[in-house]
Amino acid sequence: MESDQIHAWLRETNPARLTHLWRMADATRQQYVGGEVHLRGLIEFSNHCVRLCAYCGLRAPNSALTRYRMTQDEIMACVRQAVAWGYGTVVLQSGEDPQVSREWLASLVRRIKAETPLAVTLSVGERSDEDLWAWREAGADRYLLRFETSNKALYDRLHPPRPGSASDRLAMLGRLREMGYEVGSGVMIGIPGQSYRDLAADIALFRELDLDMIGVGPYLLHPNTPLGDPSFRPVAPDHDQVPADELTTYKVIALSRLVCPRANIPSTTALATLNRTNGRELGLERGANVLMPNLTPPQYRVLYEIYPNKACFQETAEGCFGCMRQRIESVGRTVGVGPGSAARGEPVQPTAAE
Ligand code: SAM
Ligand code: SF4
Repeated sequence: MESDQIHAWLRETNPARLTHLWRMADATRQQYVGGEVHLRGLIEFSNHCVRLCAYCGLRAPNSALTRYRMTQDEIMACVRQAVAWGYGTVVLQSGEDPQVSREWLASLVRRIKAETPLAVTLSVGERSDEDLWAWREAGADRYLLRFETSNKALYDRLHPPRPGSASDRLAMLGRLREMGYEVGSGVMIGIPGQSYRDLAADIALFRELDLDMIGVGPYLLHPNTPLGDPSFRPVAPDHDQVPADELTTYKVIALSRLVCPRANIPSTTALATLNRTNGRELGLERGANVLMPNLTPPQYRVLYEIYPNKACFQETAEGCFGCMRQRIESVGRTVGVGPGSAARGEPVQPTAAE
């Protein structure tokens, strides 16, 4: 599918055509990655961040936020829950936090790999190659780093570099691949200044990067950020602004599945925030094959406020576990077993039951 076709689908409004898009995405998901939905246990272990991202509530200047950093023992308690509930992976996510040292995170990864069968995914922002190598050597399997938008001018405006070091997330994704990580990336949908052409280029880039994981979700406004101020907001040219809505999110999930049929694609919490009733289920029926139940203890979870009123922000880890399983079963799918690595081989053979 070329960028022009992706663009046309993003602008599609005809319900019958959209039903066709959902069916194509669902059939492709079934053919390439099967009916299992993999559970990745998310541990948001630090909300400290040195960056100035114009969209995110964790940005350094947000003094209204109480900051926390979990201890290794607290994190290991969450990890053990993941094992007990049969999750195949834990995702260690944080702000860009220099207090999370190379050695500290390497020793945590080593502990998880020594004591559990879990795959370990890191999502801790832009770090040096030395850090990334050390964590890979310690056993980290995957790394998530969204490139946020392929529009360079918009990226630089919304994601300013740190003094003295350029921010080139695309180059970092290439290095992660060379180091042997499974690589995940993605974008926010409907961030101010994002045009339909930009979003079509983002999706075409997913294919070019040959991503193992693709995380997409709607942009949600946080008032204590520069984008909370209307006078700061970039404007897409020619009234071509993408809406940050549910329908566009489903279109992006479906198109991501079509351009990267073997990728692991979550139905995200940001989507569930727009539709708490059945947003996650509709994501699963329109191309997604992953859910990310939250393992973060509730007293920290409320402080990981990248945007307000996040879905499930008051839920316990146990509540998330039961809820996700029930949602998976409600759409006739099964809970994935094992780490659920990216399917790089042949399409999955349909079983008799499917
Ligand atoms: N600090 C790491 C990083 O930036 O890659 C990982 C944590 S960061 C909170 C994870 C993702 O949250 C970002 O890549 C961004 O796409 C998303 N995000 C941040 N602010 C958001 C907002 N206001 N609405 C929706 N998604 C947001
Ligand atoms: Fe920090 Fe990541 Fe938020 Fe940017 S998106 S402010 S790097 S936590």
